[in-house]
Amino acid sequence: MEWKTVDFKGSKTRLGRKAGEILEGDDFTCSLCSGKGTLPRSEGVKCPVCRGEGTIPLTGPVMVCAYCKGRGEYPPRTNITCTACKGKGLVSITKPIEVCAHCRGSGAEPGNKLPCLKCKGKGVITK
Ligand SMILES: [Zn+2]
Ligand SMILES: [Zn+2]
Ligand SMILES: [Zn+2]
Repeated sequence: MEWKTVDFKGSKTRLGRKAGEILEGDDFTCSLCSGKGTLPRSEGVKCPVCRGEGTIPLTGPVMVCAYCKGRGEYPPRTNITCTACKGKGLVSITKPIEVCAHCRGSGAEPGNKLPCLKCKGKGVITK
């Protein structure tokens, strides 16, 4: 797997976020609510991840969560927050990193679809 480092500054949408991308910067758009501050399928319910702010205070480098593929929810199309990234859709990483050999970068524990025990759903581990 190859990583592409993306300069996040100036881009406040989650469009284009792909699993495996490394983002630099801080204050990222909330993945669960796409920055709206309210939950997508629950009108008027404040997003629990960003507390309605629409952004998450995280300092890069961060990586798109492999387990939920950056959606912030798992399973997809629910309002259940991903346990690997706590709904942020992004996980902090410490470079240098390498692909987790246990889950082969998927972030899911082989066999039972729970977050990988080795990398905790990140899909990568610090070397
Ligand atoms: Zn949110
Ligand atoms: Zn996640
Ligand atoms: Zn893993």
